[in-house]
Amino acid sequence: YTGKTSLSYISEKIKNIKVSDVKSVPIVVDESTSLYDAIVLMFLEDVGSIYVTSKGFLSGVVSRKDFLRNAMGGMDLNKVPIGMIMTRMPNIVYVDLEDSVLNAAVKLIDHEIDSLPVVEEDEKNYKVVGRITKTTITRLFVELGKND
Ligand code: ADP
Repeated sequence: YTGKTSLSYISEKIKNIKVSDVKSVPIVVDESTSLYDAIVLMFLEDVGSIYVTSKGFLSGVVSRKDFLRNAMGGMDLNKVPIGMIMTRMPNIVYVDLEDSVLNAAVKLIDHEIDSLPVVEEDEKNYKVVGRITKTTITRLFVELGKND
């Protein structure tokens, strides 16, 4: 018996799980993609947020509410590119592969967002290599609960 409480055991375990262990596949489009095509993709891929790139590097994020806000404003969904409505760098909150999943969950809570792009830095630019969502955290929570 180590003398550790089960809570500190769980927290130790969560801190040791890395983003790279639990990340899922990101849905990524170029900035020039129309709002219409991006909305269709969001349904087809069954995701709540899409990551946007320019020349292959992360430039923005769009979520369900971004689409709703702009659709309600009467924007022409076929004419407007996603780059016009996205949340833009440097305001994107992200994690890298080596971050702990606890750190990722803290960012989701602190910034009140549903997902984080997982990035790899390439000379001050960021390649999108995954995503962490609230579902990722919930799935992990269930696994930890079952195993202990
Ligand atoms: P929803 O629109 O479904 O509520 P979010 O809560 O994730 O989804 O998004 C809320 C707002 O935060 C949107 O304007 C979105 O563009 C922005 N956002 C989402 N994810 C991020 C992120 N990782 N970094 C910065 N802003 C984000």
